[in-house]
Amino acid sequence: MTGSGAAPLTIVVSGPGGVGKGTIVNALVRRDPRLWLSRSWTTREQRPGEPDDAYVFTDPATFEQRIAEGGFLEWTEFLGNYYGTPTPDPPPGADVVLEIEVDGARQVKEVCPDAILIFVLPPSREEQERRLRGRGDRADRIYARLRKAEEEEPIGKALADYVVVNDDLETTIQEMLEIIENARRARAQAT
Ligand code: 5GP
Repeated sequence: MTGSGAAPLTIVVSGPGGVGKGTIVNALVRRDPRLWLSRSWTTREQRPGEPDDAYVFTDPATFEQRIAEGGFLEWTEFLGNYYGTPTPDPPPGADVVLEIEVDGARQVKEVCPDAILIFVLPPSREEQERRLRGRGDRADRIYARLRKAEEEEPIGKALADYVVVNDDLETTIQEMLEIIENARRARAQAT
């Protein structure tokens, strides 16, 4: 069953910066209209050329106010900024996709044990660094993100239900669509 009666699946896509998570989740929601992508809040500055709707860009006071109101499914501090997932409100029948870092993924697993956690790895550190540089971040921020990635990798692998190496984008997307379809089939059998 995929209709409005079934509880939504929560699909968490996590992985180090520069691994291509953003591109992947955007492709997933384009190809599968039953997927609904959550838009996170952040206090980080918008990057040059970054779309206005990449995040809800906000200030720390507003973010903290929302924490106090219990308005986040999860939130964390990542390299000096807040990031958080507002309590999801998908349209009926849709499944939820979150693109978040590993501390957030761990929190989602705690409150929502059925969430499917897919951890994405870069094909190599060199490729990851190349992708991070291509985004126009400052050099010190790129190094901070690479160090953070090394820290996140073992944690993410241990938490994950599935680990996918994003070598070829098309193969990665197909693999993930299959994981989601299998989860839908399992949900239909369980209801
Ligand atoms: P960036 O600054 O590169 O856009 O994001 C930094 C990290 O924060 C990435 O790993 C990204 O997946 C993660 N992130 C984005 N939104 C959220 C969120 O709502 N919650 C958490 N925990 N992490 C997020």
